[in-house]
Amino acid sequence: MGDKIRKSLESNGIDVLLWESGVKECTMDAIARLADTGRKSNPHFVIGVGGGKAVDTAKAVACRIKVPSVILGTQCATNADTSAESVVYTEDHRFVKALTLPRNPVLVIEDTEVLSKAPAKFMVWGMGDALSTKFESEAYAKARAKKKDRPAPTTAALALADSCHKNLMEHGLKAVHDVKNGAHSREVDDIIEAVKLSSAMAFENTGCALAHALHNGLARSGEVKGQHGEIVAYCTVVQMIYEKRHADEVSAVRTWCEKVGLPTTLDALGGPSKMALRKAAEYAADKDPDSRNMPEKVKAQDVLMAIETYESAH
Ligand SMILES: [Zn+2]
Repeated sequence: MGDKIRKSLESNGIDVLLWESGVKECTMDAIARLADTGRKSNPHFVIGVGGGKAVDTAKAVACRIKVPSVILGTQCATNADTSAESVVYTEDHRFVKALTLPRNPVLVIEDTEVLSKAPAKFMVWGMGDALSTKFESEAYAKARAKKKDRPAPTTAALALADSCHKNLMEHGLKAVHDVKNGAHSREVDDIIEAVKLSSAMAFENTGCALAHALHNGLARSGEVKGQHGEIVAYCTVVQMIYEKRHADEVSAVRTWCEKVGLPTTLDALGGPSKMALRKAAEYAADKDPDSRNMPEKVKAQDVLMAIETYESAH
């Protein structure tokens, strides 16, 4: 894939000044190193090709060099491609922080033919990330209505969050089945749209909330195994329980997670200790900025109770 893109750029008169392949993690060191090297070539823009780690690194490097970023997605594992945010981890994949960038990528290209050929597990992870969008967007809207500290989100953003959710629930299972069988169906395109467009545009115009705050807490612990979207999916159901949403609504989302292959137990996420859970809940409630997008002050004890309720539902 790398060689193909490089040749394509060069044959279209775009000089590739620096090429870095195999970004393992989006770390502060990698961003600083690539920005220092890249700056010397005086580029017009930075292109990020790949999954979440590659595109988040590229966006942050472009921001440091003060040039635009262009994103070319190759898999459907996250909704990161269009966002003005880079999530930074340590080398051993512990969450550090989310960098807020001054601008979004100027161009995002998602070739659904390419994305549909990536392993199905990537699509499952992307759906897990996008699952949070409707619930976090709604929490965000309630928080703004109550706190009046920032503008209320547009109805368009909330409609996109709804559209994302509808696509996931209606077409997610068939899309995963089709990708596994090498079929590029309408449902596959629907899910790529849900993850890469609707989810991204919705959360960029609302905000993350408890699901991502708890993800960030768990991902710092070093005791939780799983990809971003897998942890976010688990935390989304925890947020729903925390919000005291109707049992049928919670159960429908949980059943959907089981069917598409997203984790619904802590054991499936490496079985973190009680101490790790407590620390994650405290981080989510007291330190992570995303929890400020919940309508009420988040209490760690209530988050732990929501986790307990989810676990006892099995
Ligand atoms: Zn996410």
